[in-house]
Amino acid sequence: MAPLRAIRCGTLFDGTGAPPARGAVVVVDGERIAAVGPAATTPLPAGAAVLDWSDRFVMPGLVDAHSHISIVPGDGDQIGQLRQEAVPQALRATANLRRDLASGTTTLRVMTEEHFLDVAVREAIAAGVIPGPRLLCGTRGITSSNGHGRAHSAFDGVDEIRRGVRENFQRGADHVKIFATGGVSSPGTTLNASVYSREEIRAAVEEALRAGKYAAAHAHGGPGLRLCVEEGVSTIEHAGLATDDDVALMKEHRAWLICTFAIFMHERGIEQGDGRNPAIMAKLAAARRTIAETFPRHLASGVRYASGTDGVHGAMPFELETLVRFGVSTADALLSGTRWAAEACRMDAEVGSVVPGKRADLIAIEGDPLAEIEALRRVRLVMKDGEIQDVIPNKHGTNG
Ligand SMILES: [Zn+2]
Repeated sequence: MAPLRAIRCGTLFDGTGAPPARGAVVVVDGERIAAVGPAATTPLPAGAAVLDWSDRFVMPGLVDAHSHISIVPGDGDQIGQLRQEAVPQALRATANLRRDLASGTTTLRVMTEEHFLDVAVREAIAAGVIPGPRLLCGTRGITSSNGHGRAHSAFDGVDEIRRGVRENFQRGADHVKIFATGGVSSPGTTLNASVYSREEIRAAVEEALRAGKYAAAHAHGGPGLRLCVEEGVSTIEHAGLATDDDVALMKEHRAWLICTFAIFMHERGIEQGDGRNPAIMAKLAAARRTIAETFPRHLASGVRYASGTDGVHGAMPFELETLVRFGVSTADALLSGTRWAAEACRMDAEVGSVVPGKRADLIAIEGDPLAEIEALRRVRLVMKDGEIQDVIPNKHGTNG
């Protein structure tokens, strides 16, 4: 029989938009939330084990809307890492995902891997073989022969793209990831040129929609970004060079802006891995300047946004701190890493807020991230699917 638990929360931030509640109770039945309410009016069910988190700030488990499982950006040459054999990649992934989970991430959207590694790892986590967040898998990236993100796989022309997307779904992908523009960590690519034609982007989106899924696109700006938005891509990743007009177009089409600050700005990001490569570092410096100048406006524009670490494992606190630095309220920053990210990843029926019926993904924090966002670095307990996870926060490196 599924265990019944009642959690006494010091403060509950439920992710619905309601104000934080002092002294709330969350009842967990098996892997789902059964009831949420004030301690005074929420009966503890007979036989429920009581968990006392009354000195903690409790909130939904974090949803990392853009990451990778095998990559460690601080090791440099991310494409080289993706070109390795599956086994070394899988071994790195187990360590990376443990770190993500320990930092409070209970759901993580994978934005491409080779070897269909993410599907195998998703199943291993679901089966309890290794600890880790629940994974949403992109499998192979849809990139062109001369595109950013090209490791083993490349797809040129409408027909190859259709076949690639269909094969990805057949192997278990949850969404499609298109590489529409160049990237910071590949020196020879341009950040705002469109690698793909409109027809190629449309083919990827069509195949996703036909399968009942959606397309995401790596796009920094310019024609590549605009083509994706016009053709119905749901989430625009990075958008490091997006102009005000680009963001207005995204808003009009209800495309999500997925912010990935850590990869550009965190000390464990591209800087640590590729600091000796002057071509990459020049691109990185330019991207940092542009982001610091434009994102405060983008985030205040009304465009829908959510957060992801892009492989800087354990860095969700840094992501949300950067939002606050760019003028976002602490409450909205927490939403960007929970409910909004769940909506962007189409998982909001299951995760992202603490309401009856959803999966019991909860984290317990020492301190109050609404008062001081850095408190998010002090995650003390992680519950996923109603089970307290056997990870020791901060054991594998400091959160953030
Ligand atoms: Zn990425």
